[in-house]
Amino acid sequence: MEPKNIKNPSGPIATKDWVVEVDRDACIGASACLLADRSFALDDEGKAIILGTIDEEERETLLDAARVCPVLAIKIKNKETGETIYPE
Ligand code: SF4
Repeated sequence: MEPKNIKNPSGPIATKDWVVEVDRDACIGASACLLADRSFALDDEGKAIILGTIDEEERETLLDAARVCPVLAIKIKNKETGETIYPE
């Protein structure tokens, strides 16, 4: 499982519509976000990274992954406007 961006494995990463980032300091490796298995995986440090296949994920699944993160570590913004989509 390769991260989309090797230098910044947890993002920020631009997808079709959104910019997605995992706050590595906040991430506790709870794995809940792995429900979006085209988007997230855990690295050797137990932190979520963003996969190269994130563009294949349904938007709703990606949003669900952010919603179930117990520490709100997944941040999603509108790519065009920069407006925060999650956490609201
Ligand atoms: S659900 Fe949140 S805390 Fe758990 S691995 Fe994913 S980003 Fe990290």
